[in-house]
Amino acid sequence: MAAPDPYRELRDRLIDAELLFPTGVEGLYGRSQTYQEIVAAIDRMVHRWGTELKATAVYLPPVLARSTFNSTNYLQSFPDLMGSVHVFRGNDRDHAELVRRVETDGDWPALLEPGEVVLSSAACHALYPMCSGRLPLGGRRYEVSGFCFRHEPSPDPARMQAFNMHEVVYVGDHDVAQRHRDEGLVHGLGLLGDLGLDVTPVPANDPFFGRLGSALAAGQIEEELKLEGVTPICSEDKPTAIISGNCHRDHFGLPFGIETDAGEVAHSACVAFGVDRITVALLVRHGLDPAEWPGPVRAGLFR
Ligand code: ATP
Ligand code: ZN
Repeated sequence: MAAPDPYRELRDRLIDAELLFPTGVEGLYGRSQTYQEIVAAIDRMVHRWGTELKATAVYLPPVLARSTFNSTNYLQSFPDLMGSVHVFRGNDRDHAELVRRVETDGDWPALLEPGEVVLSSAACHALYPMCSGRLPLGGRRYEVSGFCFRHEPSPDPARMQAFNMHEVVYVGDHDVAQRHRDEGLVHGLGLLGDLGLDVTPVPANDPFFGRLGSALAAGQIEEELKLEGVTPICSEDKPTAIISGNCHRDHFGLPFGIETDAGEVAHSACVAFGVDRITVALLVRHGLDPAEWPGPVRAGLFR
């Protein structure tokens, strides 16, 4: 008999409880009302923090301008995770061929062309072109949220292809950006701790692609550019990142022409809450029925 797989087991439990609905594609789910109420409560929690920081809230669509994507360097680092939107721009004859192909199981996507948008890989990417030019004195804070896509099909219900991310972002001076990440992550860990989650900060790296990728990942760890808060969801040995704090330095300031009030290239930093992962972590930690969760957790979250 095959060894039990804790990832599939949890996914099946969430589906049996009708918290998530399967779509036939790994990592792609419909969400129940109960699940969605937890998502909304986490979003409100992050929004309360954003309001304290006087952050401007921006709610984003799940797609990103292709021109923005081209400047983020995402394709160079994570070609395996991205997704592109393709559209039909043909005439009547092309349409007839498209229909013929779809009805004969032919290669109809070959008749499509790249659209103006790609799928969004991280909520904060859409923000940077909005910041081009001179920033006000002290920089700016934003709170950005929306659906993201990453092509990483998995039976792990905490590793979705389409998932919600809610970030608190600073754009401006380099020392303030560093502090935003450091203090912001500590604050975020505190918020998650208040929900009864046992979250540990660890140095982390992004999953850079290919041979050059391992060198980039090692550099990122060495310079502590990325920290994650991890909590056990399916495994005590391999806890899952439910929040991350990222120092981008001038990675976005440079290509998007963002300047501090003093005319220097702006730095940026973000604290990113993995809203779906936090939802799944809460369901694992406190049980599949939020009505039965401990009073203080309910009172803290559902306000
Ligand atoms: P991982 O190393 O687990 O793949 P990541 O380092 O790529 O995650 P980030 O780019 O820092 O993740 O994304 C911010 C947050 O979004 C993560 O901390 C995580 O909580 C969440 N997240 C990332 N990928 C997924 C996914 N496939 N499904 C659900 N949530 C995700
Ligand atoms: Zn970000």
